[in-house]
Amino acid sequence: MGGITLEDMTAAGALLEGHFKLSSGRHSSRYLQCALYLADPTRAEAAGRQLAARLKNAAAQLVVAPALGGVIIGHEVARALEDVPFFFTERADGVMKLRRGFRIEPGCRVLVVEDVVTTGGSTREVMDVVAREGGVVVGVGAMVNRSGQENPFAPLPFTALLTVDVPNYEPETCPLCASGVPLTKPGSRPDKKS
Ligand code: ZN
Repeated sequence: MGGITLEDMTAAGALLEGHFKLSSGRHSSRYLQCALYLADPTRAEAAGRQLAARLKNAAAQLVVAPALGGVIIGHEVARALEDVPFFFTERADGVMKLRRGFRIEPGCRVLVVEDVVTTGGSTREVMDVVAREGGVVVGVGAMVNRSGQENPFAPLPFTALLTVDVPNYEPETCPLCASGVPLTKPGSRPDKKS
């Protein structure tokens, strides 16, 4: 299935250039704002359909994604899988949790969906929540893989619609910090200092 290209992201205004603080805490000169890509419901639906097609063999019974980034794409993947519900996790007091009455049946086959995988940290937190609730993670899907690894979740099946190789840095060794470029935390106003 086709996937998404950087040109598609650029056309959607979703490829931002500058100096960004990623959710992992690392810095990068490029940021993919998936929310802008997903702002078009037709594009969101198509992306969900592609991910669902690639992960159909996992025979998932439930899709779980982390709020807020994973909610739209996770929902669209569940829709495309047909008769598969969609839950989301959210952070409360810094801890990833299932709230709002979402319950996972023991042994339920769960597909975890993300917008962007960078370190895979938040995805692993969702996987831990699923395991803690008695579910079984059977695969991971993402819109964008910027982890630098083909499959950061091996041996689980993993697929991403777009793989990008964008360098990112620890703040201490970030060349953009060194040259004094103002840092932006995507989705918010620029940070004064970080
Ligand atoms: Zn920096």
